[in-house]
Amino acid sequence: MSKKIEIAELSSWPIENIDRPLIIGGPCSAETEEQVLETARGIKAAGIPIFRAGIWKPRTRPNSFEGIGAQGLIWLQKVKAETGMLTATEVANAKHVELALGAGVDILWIGARTTVNPFAVQEIADALRGHDIPVLVKNPINPDLELWIGAIERLSAVGLTKLAAIHRGFSTYQKLKYRNDPQWQIPIEMKRRLPNLPMFCDPSHITGDRAYLEEVTQKSMDLNYEGLIIESHCKPEEAWSDAKQQLTPKTLEELLANLVLRDPEA
Ligand code: PEP
Ligand code: MN
Repeated sequence: MSKKIEIAELSSWPIENIDRPLIIGGPCSAETEEQVLETARGIKAAGIPIFRAGIWKPRTRPNSFEGIGAQGLIWLQKVKAETGMLTATEVANAKHVELALGAGVDILWIGARTTVNPFAVQEIADALRGHDIPVLVKNPINPDLELWIGAIERLSAVGLTKLAAIHRGFSTYQKLKYRNDPQWQIPIEMKRRLPNLPMFCDPSHITGDRAYLEEVTQKSMDLNYEGLIIESHCKPEEAWSDAKQQLTPKTLEELLANLVLRDPEA
């Protein structure tokens, strides 16, 4: 029997005046200090409160860029000091958690390739015991709702309450329009099982292509998702990872301005 999962409202996160949707924007990967700071200035100018950048990158195949590592934490500290935005990064093991907490990163996320591994999620949960930090959990790469809920349960069991889910689509062997199949019924069922758990959409990793970002983002708004995490890079074509799906901060600002929001109570 699993224990009751206690989820805090988004309003308890350390962010002033949370708008719907709550936006997290920034590059797939931190590459250089200049790229991080230039992108962060654009993200701030777009009115986005949380800056994301991956420092440890779990790549599917070896010999691609695997992240800049701990030195990127210093760049995130500079972003926070200069812009006042909160910072977010991905953690995949206890060492990442220890370093990110030590550097004052405000929000953590667990990637799709980590959510599939209960040992890794448990190790992360144990390293987070006693820390009241928001943690977002991406869906596992395979369409397994129980694994996704299981990761939330492991984090909840160590006392974390500022939890949220990220829908980033599911791997398939077939070539589909989008890089990852959204399988919208899975996050919808997640929300039915855990109604208080805020749901973020990650249209960047669902589509794998900036041409389709707008339609997927709008769909998530039509389903009343509470948040968005979208990749944005000052020079998207030159990005060291996920170049096809990133937008400049300016284009991201336009995309967000064009979203049609329904009243979630209606
Ligand atoms: C990312 O957010 O850059 C990332 C690696 O995503 P995912 O875990 O969804 O593949
Ligand atoms: Mn990415």
